[in-house]
Amino acid sequence: MSIQKNLADITKQINGRATLVAVTKTRSEEEMREVYQQGFRVFGENRVQEILRKKPLFPADVAWHLIGHLQSNKVKQILPHVALIHGVDSEKLLHEINKEAGKAGIKTNVLLQIYIATEESKFGLDFHEADNLLQQYQEGKYPHVNISGLMGMASNVESQEQIEKEFSCLQQYYQKVAKPYPFLNTLSMGMSGDYEIALQHGSNMVRIGSAIFKSEPA
Ligand SMILES: *Cc1c(COP(=O)(O)O)cnc(C)c1O
Repeated sequence: MSIQKNLADITKQINGRATLVAVTKTRSEEEMREVYQQGFRVFGENRVQEILRKKPLFPADVAWHLIGHLQSNKVKQILPHVALIHGVDSEKLLHEINKEAGKAGIKTNVLLQIYIATEESKFGLDFHEADNLLQQYQEGKYPHVNISGLMGMASNVESQEQIEKEFSCLQQYYQKVAKPYPFLNTLSMGMSGDYEIALQHGSNMVRIGSAIFKSEPA
């Protein structure tokens, strides 16, 4: 019951501004079925093995998004199964995805992950690296991928001001590159704790897990 209510609350909050990626990592098949039954069709997972295991359990109309860090040696395995890879965080990875997609005869949708947090542990490209990849892409270097946008994660901190600063920074970069690169149409930012701030800063794709699956306060 609470999943249904949580989803209704979140949907209301999003208010048509963004696509909801229901982050189902570590969740059971039963929990995920409830999300499916409420009409949601985009599931986000951060591990290749978990997508491979769960995908056969659900109808084919689920779009599986890989939201976590992807290792180059797992690219080949996962490509045929994902609708969007959010975490392209290096030239090497983009190169590998392009190569394997070409071999498989498919075109893979990806987002470039930009490093916006102040924390050491987060993956991502800096603006300069992203500029270079976008330019190479426009020049035709990666014909088997479709770069449709950017993704970012804010620092995991209490300070709303800090989070706002980070999202605002990515929003400004997105607006800057969307002009020369009009194929960019997705800005993936915002998780359970910060998606409202992300939406205020132009996010049109939010990745939400714990807020969907939390149980009713006793
Ligand atoms: C787990 C995860 C999320 C969802 O986090 P919640 O706080 O549970 O909403 C979003 N994005 C990425 C990349 C994640 O790994």
